[in-house]
Amino acid sequence: MEKQRTTALPSTEELARQMTYIQKIRQENDKYLAETGHKKKFYSLAMGCQMNAHDSEKLEGMLDEMGYEATTEETEADFIIYNTCCVRENAELKVYGKLGWLKHYKETENPNAMIALCGCMMQQDVVQQTIMKKYRHVDLVFGTFNLYKLPELMCMRMDSDGPVFDIWQEYQEVVEDLPSIRHFSYKASVNIMFGCNNFCSYCIVPYVRGRERSREPEDILQEIRKLVADGVKEIMLLGQNVNSYGKTLEHPISFAELLRKVNEIEGLERIRFMTSHPKDMSDELILAMKACDKVCKYLHLPFQSGSTKILKKMNRHYTKEGYLELVRKVKEAMPDVTLSTDIIVGFPGETEEDFQETLDVIREVKYCTAFTFIYSKRTGTPAAVMEDQVPEEVVKDRFQRMLDVLNPLVHEVTQTQVGKVLPVLVEEVSKNDAGILTGRTEQNTLVHFTGTKDLIGQIIPVKITENKTFYVIGERM
Ligand code: SF4
Repeated sequence: MEKQRTTALPSTEELARQMTYIQKIRQENDKYLAETGHKKKFYSLAMGCQMNAHDSEKLEGMLDEMGYEATTEETEADFIIYNTCCVRENAELKVYGKLGWLKHYKETENPNAMIALCGCMMQQDVVQQTIMKKYRHVDLVFGTFNLYKLPELMCMRMDSDGPVFDIWQEYQEVVEDLPSIRHFSYKASVNIMFGCNNFCSYCIVPYVRGRERSREPEDILQEIRKLVADGVKEIMLLGQNVNSYGKTLEHPISFAELLRKVNEIEGLERIRFMTSHPKDMSDELILAMKACDKVCKYLHLPFQSGSTKILKKMNRHYTKEGYLELVRKVKEAMPDVTLSTDIIVGFPGETEEDFQETLDVIREVKYCTAFTFIYSKRTGTPAAVMEDQVPEEVVKDRFQRMLDVLNPLVHEVTQTQVGKVLPVLVEEVSKNDAGILTGRTEQNTLVHFTGTKDLIGQIIPVKITENKTFYVIGERM
């Protein structure tokens, strides 16, 4: 097993350095193409959150530069990379399941295939040990802090006779301007910061994504200007907790100030952001959301539990009343705003009374949608060793009762869109019907309507005619 250098050069030097490895592999792949008449293929799987999806765009961009061709068929790939997630146990079990199949694939169909694992799951020592001992057919393992080193690590593996592991414990450098393959021509995600300092007691993210660090505002603005020049209309500003953007900068600016700067970019039409932590949702930010005409009036504001006792155990730093007061302020400032959230059911120590408080918040706020989870014990987090783990059948019953309260309210919120003519960013052709297009309103409502695919990427007026709870039917105006 090869151990690697764990320090990074300044961004531009590091990029140039990785480009030399990209060229080295490119030459090999071009030779293969000349000899066989076809390109080597890569299969890339991004698991988990939007941060991972965005990171995978960069991994795929580098592989494309190396002369690989993307394939959606794992069975025809020469290079297979999983960008893993560990926020819930089943995400990890899925990876181990797939590794079993990959062993067979490598032994029977493609012994030269290279298998790489990266992302949050790989940051955990116990996982690295497991891969080293039980999955020796894996060639490359790296983490969340050194994604840009993929070309170098691939060369390392090609020159060595054993797997290469390169996991860093913290960030060294944000390498800007990496090659990237965007999945959508008209919208793009932009990281504004990395890591998280909140240490919610159930969450593994701070242990695998490290301490908060913000990108320089000018680097962010420059990246967005380039994307807009390239035809992008909608930007998603990404961070584990965007509300605390800027605190690590040499010249700190707030997220609200950054939003106002992004709002000034000519040609940009829509700004979205994710994820906001309620404890850092300031009046300044609410006013900036209201004042910035390009900021979509949709806010994802996870509350997790309605019980102040449980919020304390979760280390969330707000109360039920505080959260509801915040929502009241947001709705007062932007009456058309829609809100979504994250909810955990079954956190250790949750009683029926606590659960009823969660239902209270759902009834009080009225969300346009919610990401709902059954508590998943994550080894290494404080909650994993807490007493009063809630029995599975109790959790399952509560989860169903929560959906019984939530879904009719989502239907009610969606109903407020019916009859309105709303600007819709046309995103894609429906997977089930080639004559149907799908798109999203500013409020993030999914709209299905008849149209032709030349409309994709445009923002067009659509009259909302029918409510399907988690999406609506519309007619082009
Ligand atoms: S804010 Fe909490 S839940 Fe979100 S990533 Fe950070 S620690 Fe995890």
